Amino acid sequence: MSYTNEQVSHLVEGTLDWETTFRMLSMPKDNSRFEQYVAALQAKVGFKDRIVLPLAPHMYIVQSAKTKQWLIKCDCGHEFCDYKENWKLHASIYVRDTEEAMTEVYPKLMAPDTQWQVYREYYCPTCGTLHDVEAPTPWYPVIHDFEPDIEAFYKEWVNLPVPERVD
Ligand SMILES: [Zn+2]
Repeated sequence: MSYTNEQVSHLVEGTLDWETTFRMLSMPKDNSRFEQYVAALQAKVGFKDRIVLPLAPHMYIVQSAKTKQWLIKCDCGHEFCDYKENWKLHASIYVRDTEEAMTEVYPKLMAPDTQWQVYREYYCPTCGTLHDVEAPTPWYPVIHDFEPDIEAFYKEWVNLPVPERVD
């Protein structure tokens, strides 16, 4: 099964959901699609750091062109932190924990009871892109997303050499 340039451009525009994206990228032993995808992303962003792995439609793990450290970086060039850290702790966070704040974005009757559920929105401090939303109970700590096993991804899934990393 192969994908057309049009489908790849949907990927790049972020108009496919992340599950579909990952399914498309993780066909075993097909390195060309991943390379094609990363090259298209790389052409779109304004920075020179090499994209190691896309994390979300507007967020990447990159290899710093200067230091070779792996960083979490926004489309706009904003650097959040080292890729092993929780980028959410470096984001601008907006918590919707009142009925008024909820009904700004959710129809009144569908908005959850804020005693039981709040919405935490994580924005880029530089460009304001919304990168993630969590809907936890109010006392739940900030969720650290999965740490992707990048070495395994490169070796076993896309069959490409792992980019160099300096901590
Ligand atoms: Zn940004």
